[in-house]
This record gives sequence, structure tokens and C-alpha cells, in this order.
Amino acid sequence: MAAVRGRDTKPELALRRTLHGLGFRYRLNVRALPGTPDLVFPARRALIFVHGCFWHGHDCPLFVLPRARREFWLDKIGHNQLRDRRHHDALSGAGWRIGTVWECAMRGRASPGVAATSAQVAEFLRDLQSSEMYFRDTGVHRGSGHPPALSDRFGSGSLAVSGEGSLDRHND
Ligand SMILES: [Zn+2]
Repeated sequence: MAAVRGRDTKPELALRRTLHGLGFRYRLNVRALPGTPDLVFPARRALIFVHGCFWHGHDCPLFVLPRARREFWLDKIGHNQLRDRRHHDALSGAGWRIGTVWECAMRGRASPGVAATSAQVAEFLRDLQSSEMYFRDTGVHRGSGHPPALSDRFGSGSLAVSGEGSLDRHND
């Protein structure tokens, strides 16, 4: 899984470089805030999360549920999703403007690309009236962009366990 994390890092660095080049100044990985936002722009009361589509359970082609240890991943990533929502609500309630940049906005076949996404993120940062936006493979959208819960998309881990795994074996 280290390789997955490694791939996430490059687009984030490119996004940071572009924003810096446009004159934006930010603080990185602010632990004092819920969820440790990746980029924080205090003067603009804005922050940016860069989410890996696998770890945060995005509903996009970059998320593929592993066949092995299915219940483990459903549970782990399901928890990540719940945590994301909690952090988002806490930050939003405290008056922060929140931009969520999904990995698929910058990487993958359908991606708008780092340059286009960076430009859209810059627009969001400048527009102090914009409270929350998200950036993904299909472009930029208003709202929080929380993906549907994994349990709704793939069934809950406990239901799968009640089948004793026999279904999996027969399907092979
Ligand atoms: Zn995605």
C-alpha cells in the first residue's frame, strides 16, 4: 500500500507548487485542526484536503475494493469515510471554507489534470463567498462531495461475514 500513498504525493506537490506560484501562502498539515488539513490559508479562512481515492472510499474508477480481505477494507475505509464527515462538519461549523481535491481530479485517464484543477482551486480560494467545493474526475462542483458510504455500495462487512465466505469460493 506504500506505493498507493507514494502516487498520491506527486499530484499534491504539483498542486502546492502551482498555488505557491500564483502567490498563495499556506500552512501545511495543521494538526491543531480536525483532520489535519493538508493546506490551510488562514487569511482566506480556507483549507484544502487532498484525498486519495482509495483511502477515502471515493465513488470513482480509482477506487477498487480489493478481493482479498474484503471485510477488512470495507470496515477500515468505511471508518475513514465517517471520520472525513465528522472533520468536515466540525471545520464547517467553525466557519472554515473547505475545498476537497480528490486524487482523480489530478491523476487518471478522465482527470482534468493538475494545471486545470489548480486553477479551479485558486478560484475557490479567491472567492470568499464560496463555502465548500470539491474537485474530481468530472470537474469542479459545489458542496462537500462526500461519497456514498461503502456499505451502501458494496454491502456491509457483517452481512458478508454471515455468508461464511462460501459464496466467494463458489464464485471462483
Ligand atoms: Zn476519485
